[in-house]
Amino acid sequence: MWTSQERKRVDTCDVVIVGAGLVGAAVAAHLAQNGIGTAVLEARSVAGGATGRSAGMVLTGLPGHYNWAASAYGRQKAQEIWALTIEGRERLVEMANRLNVPVQHTGSLALAVEETEADALRESAVLLQEDGFEARFNPRDILDRGFCAALRQPDDVTVDAAELTRALLDSSGVTVHEGTEVYDLEPEGDNVRVWAQGRTVLCNAVVLAVNGYAPLLDSYFADKVAPTRSLVFATDPLDGMVLDVPCSADYGYETCRQLPGRRLLLSSWRRPRTGGGQEPEADLDDVVQLGLARFAERHFPDIKVAGAERWSGVMGFTDDGLPLVGTLPHLPQVYFAVGLGGRGLPWAFVAAERLIALMWRDADPGILSAQRLGGTAAL
Ligand SMILES: Cc1cc2nc3c(=O)[nH]c(=O)nc-3n(C[C@H](O)[C@H](O)[C@H](O)COP(=O)(O)OP(=O)(O)OC[C@H]3O[C@@H](n4cnc5c(N)ncnc54)[C@H](O)[C@@H]3O)c2cc1C
Repeated sequence: MWTSQERKRVDTCDVVIVGAGLVGAAVAAHLAQNGIGTAVLEARSVAGGATGRSAGMVLTGLPGHYNWAASAYGRQKAQEIWALTIEGRERLVEMANRLNVPVQHTGSLALAVEETEADALRESAVLLQEDGFEARFNPRDILDRGFCAALRQPDDVTVDAAELTRALLDSSGVTVHEGTEVYDLEPEGDNVRVWAQGRTVLCNAVVLAVNGYAPLLDSYFADKVAPTRSLVFATDPLDGMVLDVPCSADYGYETCRQLPGRRLLLSSWRRPRTGGGQEPEADLDDVVQLGLARFAERHFPDIKVAGAERWSGVMGFTDDGLPLVGTLPHLPQVYFAVGLGGRGLPWAFVAAERLIALMWRDADPGILSAQRLGGTAAL
């Protein structure tokens, strides 16, 4: 009598990538280009996770303002983080151009919702300029929507992240198995056996690109990646353009952007819980929905938001807000780039590059290394 696992379809390949978001797609494209036999296993559909639900804003830096980052991380590390997000944006734009995926070169605004935040933006602008970054502070409510001040980052862009992910995977020629959730990874000699819905794959190495779902796949991530939900309201197309630039507000907890088709997107998320684990969904949905509805009422009272389409997605946050790149201590053939956070689009290409350098050359992932979080992360 065969067990259900023995009846599964058995495949082999060089590398299995788990997760077809932007990170998984970026890694897949690179491996395929270098002749590595690669397969992608995706629980839902291509870009069915955070990537496809994102607002598509490719913004420099982290959600907190630069003055906060300079004191939280130290000036030099804050500078390195901001520079890396610029590098990630440039990689993303290069790739989008190569694949004919439209990119809107809009710049972005960070908006202050109170005077204290306006002070933070003023100070951040000074520090950013001293550190060689483009940033312009304006002490007025330039959108005339009840904000106190604005900081403009002129080189930020927007993109349809799902379209970019699909284009990357299509151009790579890599086979993507959708509806194929991976539920176990097991050593087998020098190889890894990947157990998934409907199939099992024996491979030399695995790449986990599962972002906020990492703790569900391996307990190593339980205290390192906190799943956090973000919510989007998307209005019907408006008569005209009310926002020609994507904005983040309230220390990055709310964002707003009008799509080329004139729909207005309003998005919000809540501080992650520390210690990992799933968020209690009902409680979180209430808090985030209420906060986002209040933001809309206060700053977009002229726009009908009630009845807008809503969607949410899970993001993975690390305690220090930076992605996590490394290998599993108990399964060193399993590489990961997870915990991309609320501004993961510019990080995606940086995290993918660091992961590939770790795979090929055993190169230290630097500030993205999992070793920084202590514990038993082995590289
Ligand atoms: C509502 C929302 C709005 C956002 N807006 C922005 C924004 O404007 N700008 C920005 O920079 N960032 C934004 N983000 C964050 C950004 O989308 C993410 O940081 C980024 O897309 C992460 O990419 P990823 O490939 O790491 O993860 P994901 O896109 O989440 O991909 C992970 C994939 O792994 C799959 N998966 C998980 N577990 C398994 C398993 N066991 N087996 C197989 N497959 C599995 C998932 O289905 C998913 O497709 C937003 C996020 C959300 C949720």
